[in-house]
Amino acid sequence: MPEIIVCSSCQAVAPAEANFCAQCGKKLKNAPLSTSVGKQIFIYLVSFFLAPFGLGYAFIYLKQPDAKARTIGAVSLALTACAIVAVIWIATAFMKSLYGQFNTLNF
Ligand SMILES: [Zn+2]
Repeated sequence: MPEIIVCSSCQAVAPAEANFCAQCGKKLKNAPLSTSVGKQIFIYLVSFFLAPFGLGYAFIYLKQPDAKARTIGAVSLALTACAIVAVIWIATAFMKSLYGQFNTLNF
């Protein structure tokens, strides 16, 4: 039996997977955010390696009512913070080693 939903605006019947009413164009539902393992891995990778972009995902997921989605948002936020700290730490270590090499040159 195919699942159907009824448009709250015009009472037209639409398939359950439809995001918009075919008759009046009203948005039928907010598409639930994916919490699949693949999506999680993607978000975590973006959070860590493309730190500023991960924040967008983090906040979207943190705003979800679903506890699992909020957990993904929190982990994404934590990874973003770790990535930023790591970048600062690496940059600091790099600058120190660079200055260390200059100092040994004895101009
Ligand atoms: Zn409609």
